[in-house]
Amino acid sequence: MLIFPIFACVVWGLAMHWRRQWPAFLVVTVSVVGMVLIAMLMRAWWDKMPDAARIFTGVILWPYVLLTGAVGYYIALLPRPPQPHECTKCRYDLSALPAAGLQCPECGTPYRGRGSSKDAEPVALIPIRHGPPKTRRTL
Ligand SMILES: [Zn+2]
Repeated sequence: MLIFPIFACVVWGLAMHWRRQWPAFLVVTVSVVGMVLIAMLMRAWWDKMPDAARIFTGVILWPYVLLTGAVGYYIALLPRPPQPHECTKCRYDLSALPAAGLQCPECGTPYRGRGSSKDAEPVALIPIRHGPPKTRRTL
């Protein structure tokens, strides 16, 4: 029974990896269609199945298919984070423009990425001593 949450997490993880791209929708659609086919096969052999399989098909499988598909499509529709060369407000591609003093030509947001004069200050590194601090003993 552990295969069901693992399968759902794999589908949702792949949808998250490829969100807003066609492989995410393909993965979710193939998984939902596969589970529907399994449910239809189980329905076709309804008379020959034991009671536990009937309960599984009638009670658990359809809500599981709906949950996996709905959450998978929701994850596939989530927006991707902006790339380093894109405007943080409107996602305009700024890669071909000079970075120093750049403002987005679409929305006017100042560019704060790599190469601009407004990028983050580098972290000051403090050297670490090798061994304990040297002290003089006074008598
Ligand atoms: Zn912009």
